Amino acid sequence: MKKSLILLGSLFVLALSSCQEEALEPKLFDTKAPSYDSTLATAPFDKYLYDTYVKEYNVSFLYRMNDVGSNLSYNLVPAKYEKSVQLAVLTKYLWFDVYKTVVAPDFLKKYGPRILYIVGSPAYNPEQGTETLGTAEGGIKVTLYKVNSMQPTNIAHLNEFFFHTMHHEFAHILHQTKSYPKEYDAISAGKYSPTGWQNRPLAEANGLGFVTSYAGMEAREDFVEVISCYITETQADWDAMLKRADAGKVSDTETGKDIILRKFDMAKNWLATAWNIDIEELRTEVQNRQNQLRGDKDFFIQLMTEAGFGDDRFVNE
Ligand SMILES: [Zn+2]
Repeated sequence: MKKSLILLGSLFVLALSSCQEEALEPKLFDTKAPSYDSTLATAPFDKYLYDTYVKEYNVSFLYRMNDVGSNLSYNLVPAKYEKSVQLAVLTKYLWFDVYKTVVAPDFLKKYGPRILYIVGSPAYNPEQGTETLGTAEGGIKVTLYKVNSMQPTNIAHLNEFFFHTMHHEFAHILHQTKSYPKEYDAISAGKYSPTGWQNRPLAEANGLGFVTSYAGMEAREDFVEVISCYITETQADWDAMLKRADAGKVSDTETGKDIILRKFDMAKNWLATAWNIDIEELRTEVQNRQNQLRGDKDFFIQLMTEAGFGDDRFVNE
């Protein structure tokens, strides 16, 4: 999963950023009074968001452009209405319903972000040669970009631009709530490159013991990348990554693969002991759902129809 693309004549690498540490407020929205305007043309979707996210999870899913809530250093375009509807339905299917099924119905209500904010366009950082895929601010708000180019049944694409980011940011929220083992930081100490990670090709990063180039930025990014990659990637992709990693000799006794498996074991144990989450169950649930949706337009139409958005304009990719 080499996250790079050629744009404007320079090399852009996709990044996740602004992961800060802050405590969570349990409740930010009043779930008793309806929070949507039933006279607007968007009322059916606003009602869906209210019923699905606000009432059930205390999460506000924001799709209208909001200058105050946007990062003004980017040139951003609002999310299209139809794309916003698609992403809201897919986010429930591939994220919220996963934790509801595998962990507990109220788990995301308790620990999930309070605001999901989506933006239509990408967020480029020309000076760093990177593209920001998503941000999590204080564990409260997760922002996702590029919604207008979303391909709703292309799983590799959905993971690369949306769901990898969601699981990544959510893993940050979890470790900001209950710390991961300090020993994790020591595994790759001295090999992180906070400002130069984007210049490491994927195979080189894997060989050093990082699941992605971005994981080589710092330990906490590394930690959540391991979790997010394992949950969202197919077994074949995970195995291919381990194979590349095995070609890198990190010490006399360990390859990049040995390092990654050591990190994985630590992350797996932490999820089990700190959160009572079985990462294998979580992964199986995500993979089953991805497999159902992958390339299957009919299944996508079924999902949209069940949510109340089966019209052509919502199901056309
Ligand atoms: Zn992060």
